[in-house]
Amino acid sequence: MTATVGHGEQLWSRCDGCEALLYRKRLRRNLDVCPECGSHVRLGAPERLRQLVDPSSFAALPDRPDDVDPIGFVDVLPYPHRLVAARAGTGLPEAVVCGTATIGGHPVALAVMDFRFLGGSLGCVVGELITRTAERALNDGVPLVLVTASGGARMQEGALSLMQMATVSQAVAALREAGLLTVSVLTDPTYGGVAASFATNTDVVLAESGARMGFAGPRVIRQVTGRDLPEGFQTAEFLLRHGQVDMVVQRRSLRARLLVLLAAARSARADRRAADRRLVCRPEAVQLMPRQPAAVSAGHSRVGLTALSGPATSDGPDGRVGGDGPPGRLSDVPDGRAAASRSDGVRGDGVQADGVQGDGVRTDGAQAVAVQVDGVRAGARDPWDTVRTARHPGRPTTLDYLDTAFDGFVELHGDRLGADCPAVVGGLARLGDRYVMVIGHQKGHNTAELVARNFGMASPAGHRKALRLMRLAARLGLPVVTLVDTPGADPGVRAEEQGQAAAIAENILTLSSLPVPVVAVVTGEGGSGGALALAVADRVLMLQHAVYSVISPEGCAAILWPDSSAAPLAARALRLTAPDLCALGIADDVVAEPEPAAHGDPEAAGELLRRAVLANLTPLLDVPPATLVRRRRQRFRRYGAARTGGAGATVGVVR
Ligand SMILES: [Zn+2]
Repeated sequence: MTATVGHGEQLWSRCDGCEALLYRKRLRRNLDVCPECGSHVRLGAPERLRQLVDPSSFAALPDRPDDVDPIGFVDVLPYPHRLVAARAGTGLPEAVVCGTATIGGHPVALAVMDFRFLGGSLGCVVGELITRTAERALNDGVPLVLVTASGGARMQEGALSLMQMATVSQAVAALREAGLLTVSVLTDPTYGGVAASFATNTDVVLAESGARMGFAGPRVIRQVTGRDLPEGFQTAEFLLRHGQVDMVVQRRSLRARLLVLLAAARSARADRRAADRRLVCRPEAVQLMPRQPAAVSAGHSRVGLTALSGPATSDGPDGRVGGDGPPGRLSDVPDGRAAASRSDGVRGDGVQADGVQGDGVRTDGAQAVAVQVDGVRAGARDPWDTVRTARHPGRPTTLDYLDTAFDGFVELHGDRLGADCPAVVGGLARLGDRYVMVIGHQKGHNTAELVARNFGMASPAGHRKALRLMRLAARLGLPVVTLVDTPGADPGVRAEEQGQAAAIAENILTLSSLPVPVVAVVTGEGGSGGALALAVADRVLMLQHAVYSVISPEGCAAILWPDSSAAPLAARALRLTAPDLCALGIADDVVAEPEPAAHGDPEAAGELLRRAVLANLTPLLDVPPATLVRRRRQRFRRYGAARTGGAGATVGVVR
């Protein structure tokens, strides 16, 4: 980083790396890299674009969504005032600049984040714009390039900002399915919700020299662990050493590296198109695909080609065997189980570039449960009390619910990569008369149990175990039930070394494509990205005294208020209770708890949970997999679009 000295037009800058005094024009000529020590200065989005894309090739996306203040957030300053100040300070309307361009003649859609604008935070508008960019890439059949710089989700927009991680990720998933290259370029700094979603679940991840990336920020990690951080922690070189990025690239080489990737992807697509044409000319090839002859003969070979290559896993390379045609359809496949093992077509039926004509996802199969919402609202308690109830040590855990609400639980262990995380439990269980895959965070009732379970904070191994079980459920055609109860993902040093951000990001992306019903229940604490890693679902339920939030009240208070004792104020501002989340359209139903709360009668709480899950799951069982995935994506697509005057259906209540 380079600090400017003097005033006016910034003639001179002092390098933060070596303290050299540098002539500003010379620095700019050197792409804002210190010629003395090589330190990379942070770039705003306009300058980044100027350096990366062909001159005059950039065309901004035509529409800019309206402002949102979905939860009426006020800390010491109303959120709209912060937006006004950010605009004045940057000259930008939002924290991302999106559009189409060419790089070395190769067309791309690209989104470039700007850290100067509210820390590059991911709010509803940012999520909407990046999603539209990805949809534009899909529509145009071109690669997507994302240049990230962000502190994470925008807490002033509450849990809706958290949802943007899923909204953008599923747009990335649609590109994956269409065989279109996605590249992220990590720049300094990239953290939190952005790191744990589209910054790391793209095909290729480049880190600019000097970039730092992680799920938890260094200050939080030091606070939580009480340890000094290792030298070079979370730097680009650290990420490379720990297998989390494909390469570290000097700024002067960035454009050339991108060019090679884009050229390779383009030539591969040209080869595939040629192969598709040859395939169409061979009648015996069509014979192998009796269900989809129309798709093949029209040159839309995704489904047919994949059928030739055998069953797909949910993220296999199969999805990249596609042509340029419209998404494949699988909604006419009668056998849900067979379809579940063929996620290719399901994943092809993704988000459309023209937005969403969603019919919403409410199946209204749980009216008895939904009635409870009014009762809950009537008994309005202070949100901070609810936070404390959600954290009560006597509150039933996932293993308790497996005992009371499910039968015959058989636990499955391990991520198959070297570890078994005790903070996540999962396996097969019966719910009523059918088998389901249950995956949940596991806390404990006393200090020893909590320590043994890492307080329900999943490590990357925990997220990868969950991922393995989700994929297994998809192959077997089993519904997935997740029980969410975590203060957040493990913010430790080892978790960062092992790729916490990417582990969460991959779960979010995979859930957005899973061809089996997914019902998530927030049973206690739904803490940020760690919660979302299990909660991209067809139905999201919350227990009456559960909370679900983009950041803990303590964390929010520490950042936005003068001191962390303002946590109760933050709890109120964040709108994190079950009725709040229902009003925002993030939760579908509230599951009643026995009086005074679930810890008072765990057996009864288990029975109420069992009935609620059954009521919500049953209507999903008959939904064809492709429809299921399409509706799930519509659900998460709404959170950006609805708030910003986009094409989505309107949901929820804006206070
Ligand atoms: Zn320097």
